[in-house]
Amino acid sequence: MSRPVQYNTNLKPAVIPEGYAGEGYFSTTFDKIVELGRKNSLWPLPFATSCCGIEFMATMASHYDLGRFGAERLGFTPRQCDVLLVAGTISKKLGPVLRQVYLQMAEPRWVIAMGACACTGGIFDSYSVLQGIDQIIPVDIYVPGCPPRPEGLIDGVLKLQELVQGESLRRRNNPVYQQLMESYGIQ
Ligand code: SF4
Repeated sequence: MSRPVQYNTNLKPAVIPEGYAGEGYFSTTFDKIVELGRKNSLWPLPFATSCCGIEFMATMASHYDLGRFGAERLGFTPRQCDVLLVAGTISKKLGPVLRQVYLQMAEPRWVIAMGACACTGGIFDSYSVLQGIDQIIPVDIYVPGCPPRPEGLIDGVLKLQELVQGESLRRRNNPVYQQLMESYGIQ
């Protein structure tokens, strides 16, 4: 017996930016179109080292399906990605590797710290564990939990989308951003 087909009737279309619409045309400013594109096509690079990585896999799978928010295209090369998603415990030995991966990403780039370990070191208050990845790279979104549920990660991605939409096109040239990078010794 075939399964009945169910349609999602609660779809929310992407918010149309401000502009001028008429029959068969719509015009707006360049920055609004770029913001819309960036926001809805984030390409994450999963840097998963332990249990939070499993929760991340669940978020990508069919039940939660991060693809609904335009972020299903995972990349495993920093050159192609714009969101570094750090999920798991980062040891001090691994710190320089994480920083190198971040530096290899092109601008604009954002960072999500997923879970207590990535945010603060979590329960591992020991000599060998980095007490939060923001000691070596700037973080845009912190997702709490040990591990966070997929809903928590999705909420973090939605918060990041808000941030991306409100940013200037040339993030790199923003004085506040430059100051932040300088504080991490990044050019
Ligand atoms: S926050 Fe908890 S679940 Fe996530 S990596 Fe650390 S110990 Fe594992």
